[in-house]
This record gives sequence, C-alpha cells and structure tokens, in this order.
Amino acid sequence: MKKGAEIIAVGSELLLGQIVNSNAQFLSQQLARIGIDVYFHSVVGDNPARLKETLNSAHNRSKIVILTGGLGPTKDDLTKHTVARHVGTTLTTDEEALAAIVNYFQQTGRVMTDNNRQQALVLAGATVFLNQWGMAPGMAYVFEGTTYVLLPGPPKEMKPMYTTCVEPYFVHNEEAATIHSRVLRFFGIGEAALEVIIQDLLDEQTNPTIAPLAKDGEVTLRLTAKTTTEAEANHLLQATEEAVQKRLSTYFYGYGDKGLHERAIEWLQAKGWTCGSAESFTGGLFAEQLTAIPGSSQVFKGSVVAYSNEIKQSLLGVSPVTLHEAGAVSSECAKEMAEGARDKLNCDVAFSFTGVAGPSEQENKRVGTVFVAISQREKPTKVFPLQLAGSRRNIRHRAVQHALFALLKDIPQ
Ligand code: ATP
Ligand code: MG
Repeated sequence: MKKGAEIIAVGSELLLGQIVNSNAQFLSQQLARIGIDVYFHSVVGDNPARLKETLNSAHNRSKIVILTGGLGPTKDDLTKHTVARHVGTTLTTDEEALAAIVNYFQQTGRVMTDNNRQQALVLAGATVFLNQWGMAPGMAYVFEGTTYVLLPGPPKEMKPMYTTCVEPYFVHNEEAATIHSRVLRFFGIGEAALEVIIQDLLDEQTNPTIAPLAKDGEVTLRLTAKTTTEAEANHLLQATEEAVQKRLSTYFYGYGDKGLHERAIEWLQAKGWTCGSAESFTGGLFAEQLTAIPGSSQVFKGSVVAYSNEIKQSLLGVSPVTLHEAGAVSSECAKEMAEGARDKLNCDVAFSFTGVAGPSEQENKRVGTVFVAISQREKPTKVFPLQLAGSRRNIRHRAVQHALFALLKDIPQ
C-alpha cells in the first residue's frame, strides 16, 4: 500500500556539501501542517540513472513524491526528462509558461536563448504551476496512484510556489486531511521536565498528536487533530488542552506563534500602559529586545542602563545605604531601581534587572543570582529572586524572559 509523501532533492552540489538541503526541511514542515506524513527524504546528484532508481523506490511506496531542483535551462537539469520517462509521458511546451519567459526577457532586456525555451517544457498531461518568482514552471502529474510534484531548486522560487500553488492543489485533491493545530506556549520549565509531567499523555497520543518543541528557553506543545470537520477538531483539541493545562498551567502564558516579547507588548497595549527599565547586568538587553518588536514604540518609553553603583545612585536614586549594606545584587536594590526608573521615566510599569551574569561571582553572590523587580503605580513593587544557570548570555537573556513572564502572569490584566 502506498502511503505518505517523500521528498527528493536533485543536485550534485547538495551531495558535495556545498549547500544544505533546506528545501526538504521547508517542505516537511509545510506538509506536516496539513496532515501529510513525510516518510523519506533523499538527495540525488545530477545523474539520470540514479534519479531513475530513486524514482522507482519512491513509486512503490509513496502517494506523493515532491522533487526539487534540476528544472533549469542547463544540461545538468534533468529532472523533467527523467520523470517523463519514468511515468511514460512526453514533454510539451506550455504556452503560458513560454509567454511568461518571453515576457521576462523582454522586460529585463536580456537575450533569450534556445535553452531558455526548454524551461517552458512540461510533462504532457500535468497540472502546471506558473512561476512568478523565476522562470521554470512547476507541475504535478499523477501516475499509478502516485502524485509527482516538480518544483524549481532555488528556495526563493520553490517556497512561494509551494505555498501558492502546491498546497492548495493538495487540499483541493483531498491529499490533505482536515487538520487543526493549537500551539500552547510555556516558560519557566525545561523541555525534559515538561515531558516528564505529561509523559502518559505523550505515550497515549494518537489524535490529537502532541509535539513538544524547545527553543530559546521556551517550550511549545503543538496539538494537532486530524478530522473531517473543524468542530470535531476543536472538540478533540479542547479535551487534550484541558488535560495538559491541569498539570502545566503555572507555566502556560499564551497560544500560537507569538513569544513572550510580543505577548508582553500586546498586554501593555491592551492595558494602555507605558513601560521602561532600569538595567544593571543586562546592560540594555531588555530595551534592545523589546524595541526589536514592531509596535513597541507605543508602550516602551526608555531605559536607564545603570551598570555602575554611581549611576544607580545618581540617575535612579538608589540609596547608598542599600548599596553598602545589601549590595547591588539584592532584592532591595532591584526594588529601588525599578521604582527609580518608573519615577524618572514617568511610565506605568518599570522593570529592573540586577544580578551576576558571570563568569566570576560578585559581592560573594553566586553566578546566576538575579533579582528582577516590577514597579507599578500605586501598587507595592514585586521582586522576583531568581537563580539562573548557563552562560553569561543565557543568564542575561533568561532574566529578560522571566521579567516578561512575570508581567503576563503576576500583574492582573
Ligand atoms: P535554476 O533555474 O536556478 O538552475 P533549478 O530548478 O535547475 O533552477 P538547481 O539548478 O538544481 O535548480 O538549483 C539551483 C540553486 O537552487 C542551487 O544552486 C541552490 O542554490 C538552490 N537549491 C537547489 N536545491 C536546493 C535544496 N534542496 N535546498 C536548498 N537550496 C537548493
Ligand atoms: Mg539548474
């Protein structure tokens, strides 16, 4: 029984290690999104005999075979000829594709050669996908229960063609199941620890599937349901989410693609609040990361980078007694820094960061000792003592993430 999809990347430069097979990665991600399982990736050089051999194996096992590369005008571009022989059809000129190529040469004032015409050749009987990002058209051809899809090699052509032509083709021809995903985002727990907590759910998962992914200190769970109707999918997703939330809700902060930074900005926008920061050991990282997000100008007022004790006193009004008695890396100092920043920057909420990023300890405090504080108008300032691990970069980055997570979880919306 044929099942699933496989991806064949054609090009000797891939085998030589000159380029990475990013096309296969992209296509696998996209196919997973629409519920098409990918079972094989192969890479073949520009060699008709070996491509033929690969096509034979693919034909016996896969319902969908996507080939990328080798559709260009040069002699080594052999994909179409080889696939044509494999499925027993001929090549024919696609007039629309040819017109587009002629037009491209007219517009760019370049001289068209005969081999450029060859790019308009398609498998006779194929569904043709016009290429608005380059010259070679893509195509789909069904042979003995296997759908062959041919796409150009350059990712900047292949990706938009997949998205605008091939995915709708699969959906239209019901290769795609109706699939619905829900992404849950967590912070403050590692991937391994999270998996342990929901191990039994992971072991039992069938529909919806539960896929954990860790990235940059955050963990996401993608729940994916395959069904015939959206209502049924939502029902299944809801039940699985409830089971997950029962155990992990303390770490949960949001849905979808948006990370902590985007969520925090949306949170502030919704509340109509402005924010600012006082940064010692993060040296402006909070300000940098927040201002990297479009829309931050509506909410972010500024930052005082108070690296030295002198600046903590003169610009933020931290008391010399605090610095002398508790030290700069202390809950008291974090509190005064946040309050000073809120006052000086005249914002609704201010974040402060003080800590030991390493590599060596400071004030007899261990590397990773961090205090984050959040000061709001007319509310007591909240201080979060943290013990973070990892490199200097990690400790600084995690501190910023903790502050944003604390805003989302601990400050009432
Ligand atoms: P062209 O008309 O540009 O020749 P083509 O369809 O013939 O397109 P190839 O000649 O196989 O494609 O590849 C062109 C370029 O596209 C490669 O040099 C490489 O930069 C990129 N490319 C090809 N295949 C892949 C792949 N699998 N992953 C990432 N990039 C690729
Ligand atoms: Mg080529």
